[in-house]
Order: sequence, then C-alpha cells, then structure tokens
Amino acid sequence: MQPRFVDMHTHTTASDGSDTPTELVRKAADCGLAALAITDHDTVSGLDEAVEAGQQLGLEVIRGCELSVSSRYGEVHILGLWLPKDCTTLDSELVSIRAMRDERNSRILERLQRVGVPLTQADVLAESRGETVGRPHIARALLRHGHVATMQEAFFRFLAKGGSAYEPKDVLSPQEGVSLLADLGATVSIAHPMLIRCPREWLDSTVAELVPMGLSAIEAYHSQHSAGDERYCADLAGRYGLAVTGGSDYHGTAKPHISLGRGRGGLRVTEAVLDRLKTRRLSRGVPV
Ligand code: AMP
Ligand code: ZN
Ligand code: FE
Ligand code: FE
Repeated sequence: MQPRFVDMHTHTTASDGSDTPTELVRKAADCGLAALAITDHDTVSGLDEAVEAGQQLGLEVIRGCELSVSSRYGEVHILGLWLPKDCTTLDSELVSIRAMRDERNSRILERLQRVGVPLTQADVLAESRGETVGRPHIARALLRHGHVATMQEAFFRFLAKGGSAYEPKDVLSPQEGVSLLADLGATVSIAHPMLIRCPREWLDSTVAELVPMGLSAIEAYHSQHSAGDERYCADLAGRYGLAVTGGSDYHGTAKPHISLGRGRGGLRVTEAVLDRLKTRRLSRGVPV
C-alpha cells in the first residue's frame, strides 16, 4: 500500500495565512492528505469552520494553534495539537496575548511614523481577515502603499530585528506556554526548533526544563529544516522520550514558496508519524 501523508502545521486567514479554513481543508483533501492540523498564531477562531469542512469532505482535521513565547534567544513557537473544543483558559489567555500584539503593532506604527513612513491602523487592519494581526499584515500594508517593493524589503528595512521599526513581542515564557497547552490535554511540540538562533546546549537544556511542564514532542519535519536538522531533532526527542511532529508551515500566498504537505518540495510527513502521536496519547488516556 502507498504511504499516506499528513501536514501538522498550517495557517489560515484566522492569522496570517491567505486561505480561509474551508479553502485550506479543501486543498488538503484535493492533494490526498490523510490528516491536517490547523495551527494559527495565537488564535483558535478558525478551528470550528475547519472541522466542519473536514467532516463534509471526509478529511481528519486536528484542532491546533501555534503560540509565540519569549526567550532570551528571541521568539520560540509552541504548537498545541488536539486542543479541546471548549477551552476557556486558553481563550482568555489568547485574548490578552492578542491585546499585547495590538499594543506592539501600535508601537511599530509609531516607529514607522518617526522614520517618515505614515501608515495607519486602518491600513493594517485592511490586510487582515482574522483575529491575529501581526507583522506580515503590516508588511502587506507597506507593500500596498508603495513604501516597499517586496515583503522581504518590508521585514529587512523595518520589521525584522535590526529594522528601523522593530519592536520585540513580550509574551509568555516557554514554560508558561507549554503548561497552558499541556494542561488542556494538548500534545505540545516545539515548532521549527532549528530556526531559533540559540546554542544547541540551550535548546537541549530548555527541552529538559519543559518536559516536566508537559512538553511531549519536537517538530522534526519542517519546510525550513534540512535533513541534518531532522536527524538532530529526532535524536533530541529520543533523548528525552519525546515524540516528533511535522508540517509544512503553509501560509498560502503569504509564503508562496511553501506548498501544503510538501513544504519546499521535498517534505513528506508520513501518516506513521501521526499514528505514533495518537498511540502515545491513547496510552495516556487522552482522546484523539
Ligand atoms: P509576528 O507574529 O507579528 O511577530 O510575525 C511573525 C510572522 O512574520 C511569521 O509568520 C514569520 O514567518 C513572518 N516573518 C518573520 N520574518 C520575516 C521575513 N524576514 N520575511 C517574511 N516574513 C517574515
Ligand atoms: Zn505566520
Ligand atoms: Fe512559527
Ligand atoms: Fe507557523
């Protein structure tokens, strides 16, 4: 039998992706994926629509999210998979995380103003169709209003660390983020760990510290991970008795070089990876 494939890291219009939840689920069904996790940044608002579309199309949809947390080496992203349908503690935490984002977005606009780039809040909101508004939306507004020629230029000149309008995001610690998701019964995975600009010793000791808080996996397979990165992550997971997860980090036209389920072309996350996660959950008495 041909192996089937899954994608456990994707974004919709609920955050900074360009496909609505229904459009994304339809694309996943069309390209024959066995299962899809929706993991929007700091919001769960696309999940009900996605699950419903999955039921109609016969595609397994896993409820997820991607939390941004802060560390001494900058932002770390934490994936929560198999979120419960109703999660009041997460909802209220996400409301305050998004409020922090909004304050940060205002500070970015003030900085842009000071360097002679007038952009209003309305210009930015016009680029968003969902709950979570972030730098990609500001970049799109800069592009639309002719201040930059490409998204890359928007980040390089203004929005990325070192850019003239950069503002850090001051959110939860990795420990707080992992506990928040684990306490809801989610499978918690560190997203694209090899993109964190940190020494490997720090990553190792952070994983060790997060295991007692409920960290259960490492995202080994990701569009921006090399084969060596995958091996390093799988080995790191093995050393701490963790599972591995994998996904493309698909954003639609917001990141046109990343394809659903295929990443930059070579990414293949087999259904076996998902099955191991399910077995692990079931052995601990948590539903899949
Ligand atoms: P935020 O959550 O508001 O800090 O924005 C993070 C998003 O911006 C992520 O989806 C990143 O992929 C995207 N991003 C960060 N740096 C760049 C860059 N240099 N070019 C394009 N997108 C970027
Ligand atoms: Zn994103
Ligand atoms: Fe991420
Ligand atoms: Fe992501």
